[in-house]
Amino acid sequence: MNFSSRDRSSFLFRLKNESFDLLVIGGGITGAGIALDAASRGLKVALIDKSDFAFGTSSRSTKLIHGGLRYLKQLEFGLVKEVGSERAIVHKLAPHLVVPEKMLLPLHEKKGLGYWLTSIGLKVYDFLAGVQPEDQRRMLTRHQTLKAEPLLRNNDVKGGALYAEYRTDDARLTIEIIKAAAHHGALLLNYVAAEEFVYTDQHISGITATDQFNQTSFTVHAKAVVNATGPWVDELRERNNSRTGKRLHLTKGIHIVLPHYKLPVRQAIYFDVGDGRMIFAIPRGRVTYAGTTDTDYDGDKNNVVATRDDAAYLIRAINAMFPVVALKPEDIESSWAGLRPLIFEEGKSASELSRKDEIFESQSGLISIAGGKLTGYRKMAERVVNLVIRRHFAQYTLKKVNTHHIKLASSDWDTKEVKRYIHAVATQFAVHNLSFVAAQELVERYGMQTKIICAEFEQLANIHPAPLALLLAQLKYGIRHEMVCTINDFFVRRTGLLYFNIDEVRQWKDAIAEDIGSILNWSPERKKQEVALLNELLSAASADL
Ligand code: FAD
Repeated sequence: MNFSSRDRSSFLFRLKNESFDLLVIGGGITGAGIALDAASRGLKVALIDKSDFAFGTSSRSTKLIHGGLRYLKQLEFGLVKEVGSERAIVHKLAPHLVVPEKMLLPLHEKKGLGYWLTSIGLKVYDFLAGVQPEDQRRMLTRHQTLKAEPLLRNNDVKGGALYAEYRTDDARLTIEIIKAAAHHGALLLNYVAAEEFVYTDQHISGITATDQFNQTSFTVHAKAVVNATGPWVDELRERNNSRTGKRLHLTKGIHIVLPHYKLPVRQAIYFDVGDGRMIFAIPRGRVTYAGTTDTDYDGDKNNVVATRDDAAYLIRAINAMFPVVALKPEDIESSWAGLRPLIFEEGKSASELSRKDEIFESQSGLISIAGGKLTGYRKMAERVVNLVIRRHFAQYTLKKVNTHHIKLASSDWDTKEVKRYIHAVATQFAVHNLSFVAAQELVERYGMQTKIICAEFEQLANIHPAPLALLLAQLKYGIRHEMVCTINDFFVRRTGLLYFNIDEVRQWKDAIAEDIGSILNWSPERKKQEVALLNELLSAASADL
């Protein structure tokens, strides 16, 4: 499969000159899932994103593949059941990337549901999500809770519960689904924006699009068009004159990243803040990240950032739960902020709105999907593609849905094999003084594809210091196999380093800019521009919090 940004012009040529069964607008997890589902059933599919794949909410979530315990509180049993059972499927499809993580839920005298209601609630959660007996919830005494998380001392915690969740990297999950769709024949392009809809006999028959790098415009022809633009869904419905009835309600959620030694939680923890909200603190290698918030948003959707107030709210909540850590705003290393594309409901606050997905269909044939969860992407895709088939291709003989068998990152292995492979890579890295964590992060990022990166790394390590050689090996892989077009694609959405190792980005950004610029033949002006864009992100993630 060819998915190299050096071949972008030939992909653009095909986009302009071929005609598609289905055009998907938006390359977040929702659009990616739809493209994979449709292409694997035999439709001829194109997908475009105005920015990078996973530029929107799909790189800015809490990065959990979770059953959504809070939805149980909202009595959304159907949603809990669907996303709960999807977790196990997505874990099997990408065991390196969707990693089991026990979540600790501390319980208090006066906050939350209380011991017995939580015990029953988690039992229902396990039942709905079909959790295996060995992974089912375990209730803890105060003593056991403090042993599991000593940072909770000096806190009025009464007991706790441990239950099963999975952690992931949202942007990497999205890019693996994008690559799987490409493998099944879909044509997928980042940095191509959908502008206006094109109609034949008052029915959508395509769109005009703009290549964001050279501002050329062209028409893309397709029998069916799906709008999977997350927070931008209503903008496209507006251009289709179909923003009627239900509409989106955007809320912002932020996360902050701290050095792990500043918030040394032993495992992921989900705690009650006391204002009706719950917050996650999740250890991840050398850092711990915490979030999230839920506030109404009507600002610039292309530039969503954490503010000082957002960060202060999280710091206050963390300090109240773990009095011994005494965090200060200056401890924050990095941050991110994302928008939830929720469906507006009269009289409901941000936290009360349903996280369920909804499909809107316009008279001229535009199918839009909004809401939902990262975790439920496969089922959402199935529903959308079923509708597309009913409307346009009922007479086609298409394959049945089999996305539950399509491995991501060709990972035909299980958790044990992933762990064994991490140890093998760590042994190779030890020769170069690279840490175990570096090996673990690499394997959890790329799965089996790590082998290609390690081979490249061995060559580069003869010329460069090992940490830079490892970055350059990933960059080359990203350009050749993951459509990396900009420095930010690499540092934000292919490696997550801007969030999880921001100092490494600062240290090596010039060397990376040099390499990507020479591979992609950038002019000096283009290189300057790209570096400036990275610097903007660096300061938005870390400054002034
Ligand atoms: P997006 O990811 O936003 O993708 C939309 C894409 O459309 C963007 O890439 C954008 O560039 C593109 N686009 C827009 N306009 C155009 C155009 N005109 N032409 C071409 N492309 C266009 N879910 C979970 O399961 N687990 C979690 O832990 C979790 N945590 C969350 C935490 C927060 C703070 C938030 C905000 C959400 C969280 N979610 C979580 C929900 C989940 O992240 C979202 O439901 C999901 O990422 C939405 O994906 P999407 O593809 O619909 O939208």
